[in-house]
Amino acid sequence: MGTNIFWKEVDVVKKILAIHTGGTISMSQNAQGDVVPNAKNPIAQEATILAGRVHLVTDEMFNLPSPHVTPVEMLKIQQRILRAEADGIDGVVITHGTDTLEETAYFLDLTLPNTIPVVVTGAMRSSNEIGSDGMYNFQSAIEVAADDASQGNGVMVVMNDEIHSARYVTKTHTTNVATFRTPTFGPIGIVAKDHAVYFQKLIRQATCQIDHVIDHVYLIKAYAGMDGSLFEFLDNDATAGVVIEGLGAGNLPPRTLPAIQQLLDRQIPLVLVSRCYNGVAEDIYDYDGGGIQLRKMGLMLCQGLNGQKARIKLLVGLSAGLTGDELKDFLRTAVS
Ligand code: ASP
Repeated sequence: MGTNIFWKEVDVVKKILAIHTGGTISMSQNAQGDVVPNAKNPIAQEATILAGRVHLVTDEMFNLPSPHVTPVEMLKIQQRILRAEADGIDGVVITHGTDTLEETAYFLDLTLPNTIPVVVTGAMRSSNEIGSDGMYNFQSAIEVAADDASQGNGVMVVMNDEIHSARYVTKTHTTNVATFRTPTFGPIGIVAKDHAVYFQKLIRQATCQIDHVIDHVYLIKAYAGMDGSLFEFLDNDATAGVVIEGLGAGNLPPRTLPAIQQLLDRQIPLVLVSRCYNGVAEDIYDYDGGGIQLRKMGLMLCQGLNGQKARIKLLVGLSAGLTGDELKDFLRTAVS
């Protein structure tokens, strides 16, 4: 492909591990204009020409569209990063499909010890489309991972010249290259010509060591007029936990309540977040289905996370064996 990747000469050559997992960043458009996976990842081929500032180690772990990625792959990536840390790697870049990128990034944020920079990136346009953003985002992610200022920031998502915290970033547009946004806070930094510039320092977050991931943790979105039918489907022994994206500040239609009570009677952990794009779920309203009643019934409020991230947090907490108040604290608090 022959793209020139420019690096200023620096004294210390950082050793960066690039883990490729698939997604549009590794795909191409065919003659019909359909975006399809490649047998050979063009980004991984390009990476071989990087020289000078970083020593790039490449691992083509998966070649999956990100809707095919599950917590099992997320755990394999986490374990690969832990091994690389033990081997003395200075930073990690993960290329990933953007559809579930925020979930993998948050999974890693929750389960890694936050000792070296870990950056997740992807692309909205495949490798041979006009205006393809893959190689650029890959280069930016490497710059951020190799920058001393990136230490201790948790897992980051770098796309379109912005650096976001994995904890709060979300995909907001189906196709726009500026799709990744952080509601409420904005990005924590930007990618300058050849380095990272940070504007916000993150508060510390509790991390959780796990060696396996459980299944059957569900996510349900509330809507006007909702009844208990969807919750009734989950009323069985296999269900490990459920995250509910409630309405507004964290409320539910009253017709859902009997089925929700049945899940609670079965000791299934239920987590409440808001389906709103911005803000946090709180126990403000005292009416039938209001947040105060839901909290009293035993739903756990998870502040500041969207539904898909709260589901990852619940899954990680349950996989770590947390129950009762420990699980509640883990879900509720943003900091350790
Ligand atoms: N559908 C693609 C995926 O997530 C989208 C992308 O990578 O941008 O694999």
